[in-house]
Amino acid sequence: MRGSWQERFAESPDVLKSPERQRTIVQVLGLAIGGGDFITMAGPCSVETEFQLMATAHHIRRGGARILRGGAFKPRSSPYAFQGHGLDGLRMLARAREESGLAIVTEVMSECDVPMVAEYADILQIGTRNMENYSLLEAAARSGRPVLLKRGMMATVADLLRSAQLILDNGNPNVILCERGIRTFETATRNTFDVAAIALLKHVSHLPVIADPSHAAGCRDLVPALARIAVAAGADGLLVEVHPNPDKAWSDGEQSLNFDEFDDMMASLDPYFALRGLALSEPEGARPMEAVG
Ligand code: PEP
Ligand code: MN
Repeated sequence: MRGSWQERFAESPDVLKSPERQRTIVQVLGLAIGGGDFITMAGPCSVETEFQLMATAHHIRRGGARILRGGAFKPRSSPYAFQGHGLDGLRMLARAREESGLAIVTEVMSECDVPMVAEYADILQIGTRNMENYSLLEAAARSGRPVLLKRGMMATVADLLRSAQLILDNGNPNVILCERGIRTFETATRNTFDVAAIALLKHVSHLPVIADPSHAAGCRDLVPALARIAVAAGADGLLVEVHPNPDKAWSDGEQSLNFDEFDDMMASLDPYFALRGLALSEPEGARPMEAVG
């Protein structure tokens, strides 16, 4: 028999709930992640063109997302696939923030790139392939930016919590945990969405927990259902891939929602928000944007 959760995750003491610390709220551009409002982060897998990014930013904002995602540095399975626009992609993201008011989350893959990515991004994303890259985690922690830590595709919950602990140890309390699916014997989906991990992380840790149904499913048909499951399981937010024309996307098109599909998914979450007593926040300025788009 196992012991208590506290014993089980004893190597990560500071990420566990305690009587003094029941939850961490990560503040980003006026948003309170983990603070009771459900925060949707949406956007393309890769930053491709100015048009693609701006159109997506405006659309997702109208649909209720508060953070724009998009990769400027892309970890790809093939070394010959598009690797991202790098600095030019970061500049496009910063312009999208200026135009839309959305905060920006983007992946950083190398510790050398941390200062540059931190200059442009509001949240640094650590990808599944780097969850245990401790020198990258240390550099990201020391940047002072909040860190979105994706679960390694072959990492246990204990491994994820250890990586979060390392970021806290390096002086950065603003960590957002992300379940994005793990490798199992099942190959019908790209990964296996570990919904129990969401419930468990919310149970044991004070850190915000979000879910990425896109990389878990690997196909767009399943993304809305996994998103609803994530809300029901207690997630504080979503990270979801959206593209104006998924069939033409430079990466992860199969799992990206088009604009209509994104709107339908968001609408389908409402009864699940209601069950949890949650509402989507409507910050100042959200309405005028509607007239612009
Ligand atoms: C991504 O968010 O586009 C991504 C590469 O995610 P992951 O690291 O979870 O595969
Ligand atoms: Mn992707």
